[in-house]
Amino acid sequence: MGRMYVAPWLAHLDLFGAARVKSVCCAILSALLAIGSIGAASASTGPVPDGRFAQLRAQDLRVARVAYKLAIANGARCKPVLTPQPGFVLHRLEQYETADRPEAARNFGLGRYVGVMAVIGGTPAAKAGLVAGDQLLSVNGHDLGEPVVDGDASRLSVERVQQILVAQMRRGAVTLRVSSTSGERDIRFVAEQGCPSNVEFIPDEEVNAWADGTRVMISDGLLNRCTDDDLALVIGHEMAHNLLHHRHRLGAEGASLNTMLPLTPVGSAQMRATEEEADRLAVSLATTAAYDLSGAERFIRGLVNQSTGVAATHPDLFRRLSLLRAAIADAKRGEPGIIRG
Ligand SMILES: [Zn+2]
Repeated sequence: MGRMYVAPWLAHLDLFGAARVKSVCCAILSALLAIGSIGAASASTGPVPDGRFAQLRAQDLRVARVAYKLAIANGARCKPVLTPQPGFVLHRLEQYETADRPEAARNFGLGRYVGVMAVIGGTPAAKAGLVAGDQLLSVNGHDLGEPVVDGDASRLSVERVQQILVAQMRRGAVTLRVSSTSGERDIRFVAEQGCPSNVEFIPDEEVNAWADGTRVMISDGLLNRCTDDDLALVIGHEMAHNLLHHRHRLGAEGASLNTMLPLTPVGSAQMRATEEEADRLAVSLATTAAYDLSGAERFIRGLVNQSTGVAATHPDLFRRLSLLRAAIADAKRGEPGIIRG
């Protein structure tokens, strides 16, 4: 099953592999993940998806839940850039490959509106009764219906709805008008605020993660190799690139933005410096959010051993692990820094 996403040609920073230009279409989902209790975090009264659809929902939810926890726990240090955190994942029928749409519609309750893929348990939206399978009709009276669009444009349409939601959430309480198989209803809540995260799961078997300045993308291949603690480090690393404006900085210093390789020696050195900064902030973000980084060295060692194209843009492994150890020790006793806007 494929799902369209905004292709990562905009992305230039990655954690462990070489970023490449890809087609917009996604890889077929691979082996089942051992998700454990994740599914219980979102109690849906809508359609109960089967097999691959349930797996995709669980993956989306897992990534969103870790990102949410990182964003909220670190909110105090992101005061200048605090952003409402909706606490749910959106999608749209036209993001799915044409052949998959009838099944996607049936499994996810999708129709002509942007739908709720997953809701993170314990969030204000979940407590107010929003559930996976709801479709969003309006927010505070603003219509969220959009002309039906296909392919990559459908992904952009989901992002537009997200932007409208966040803009309304900045003003305070929101009332969502939603529809489901049991009819229409209103959901009213005040979103929590946290660090900008905007993390997206990409159904792609390649082991990678990217940041493009505002968004973070985590691939299926990488998620499959992560515990939640590892995932917090990965998402934290990519969030750090965005929070520290590395894209802008590297652009200003002339490093390549669209491809990671080949880079000039100067560009490589600058890239390595931003990688070290991102690792350090990631450790701090994950520690603040109470993730256990005692397995971080093993995780990074395992990924680097499997990756190619790492040497030019990332610190060598010995240096990286030694900096990681120091950062973990510091984070356990240190004061969190403030992220500037
Ligand atoms: Zn990186």
